[in-house]
Amino acid sequence: MCHMKVPLLDLYAQNEPLKAEMLAAITRVFDSQRYILGPEVEQLELELATWLQVKAVVGVSSGTDALLTALMAAGVGPDAEVVTSTYSFFATAGSIARLGARPVLVDIDPATYNLDPAAAAAAVTSRTRAIIPVHLFGLSADLDPIVEAGATVGAAVVEDAAQAIGARYKQRLVGGIGTLGCFSFYPSKNLSGLGDGGVVTTRDDEVGNRVRLLRVHGASPKYFHEVVGGNFRLDAFQAAVLRVKLPHVADWTKLRRRNARRYGELFRAAGVTSRGVVLPSEPDGYFHVFNQYVIRAPRRDALRAHLHARGVGTEIYYPRPFHLQRCFADLGYREGAFPHAEAAASETLALPVYPELSEAQQSYVVDAVSEFYA
Ligand SMILES: *Cc1c(COP(=O)(O)O)cnc(C)c1O
Repeated sequence: MCHMKVPLLDLYAQNEPLKAEMLAAITRVFDSQRYILGPEVEQLELELATWLQVKAVVGVSSGTDALLTALMAAGVGPDAEVVTSTYSFFATAGSIARLGARPVLVDIDPATYNLDPAAAAAAVTSRTRAIIPVHLFGLSADLDPIVEAGATVGAAVVEDAAQAIGARYKQRLVGGIGTLGCFSFYPSKNLSGLGDGGVVTTRDDEVGNRVRLLRVHGASPKYFHEVVGGNFRLDAFQAAVLRVKLPHVADWTKLRRRNARRYGELFRAAGVTSRGVVLPSEPDGYFHVFNQYVIRAPRRDALRAHLHARGVGTEIYYPRPFHLQRCFADLGYREGAFPHAEAAASETLALPVYPELSEAQQSYVVDAVSEFYA
């Protein structure tokens, strides 16, 4: 077997063809002297509102700050409860805790890795101010029953769509289904800047205005503060770069989906699925955007070491669910509380699926995996 380098993500392959255009956009901002908010951010917000089919888009400093401001806009504060999945990137639970609210954690559906809607509905109480479904790896959570559970107690549904721009649930784009949607432009996401950035989305102009207010220390007009917000502004340089990349997201998504389909064919042909490897699925009525291609693998850590030795980049998303994190020890959860999430944390492995991945690289990854199980 010849040796090949297959990184988990190749940003050079994505950004290099757009370099001249991105540098021109950066120069435009440089020359404009408008470095904070201003026309670039406003244009990006309008373009994204059209793209995402939502009423309001508010550019913010990161996906984490999108979650934080969305929860603030939903009225989450001390003594509130927020129901979410125990299996996600830390920001999902961290933003709840930072507002002094209590993360009420629930297990995942083992087939999709997303919040189990029945468990979420059972966890809702009169103190629940919000529910955060996470569209993990680029696949929408099962939103209808979650929206229904929120409505029974007047809780907001805050979609964590950081990994899922363009994903659909029953024909509808995520981020515009719940009360608020949160996106990230961190470099590993399907639309990524040259640094940090994010947006909050909503179908409700009033909610959008509230997020806009929170973004600038709650001031309206300047120096007169309605509420306590923060500096959650999106950088004009990032907005300019994101405007160059946005028109390509649909094509990149097609390529990610092609790569996922190709992995499916290659893995089945190699007989790997009969050795206990479980491939990601796309339930009927869902449109997966494959921010990550995550398999469930017997002897996961040894497989990861084997792939590393073969030059294949992988990652574990995520090795420890929230309920077992030291910083949440005072929530009182015990090991075994959420068996599906705990199993996923010890069995899942993300493989390269970025749009520019070649067929030869994918065959190499599949050969390396089947070599391990042979
Ligand atoms: C990336 C991510 C975030 C946070 O986004 P940042 O821009 O890195 O702050 C939140 N939730 C999920 C599920 C993510 O993947």
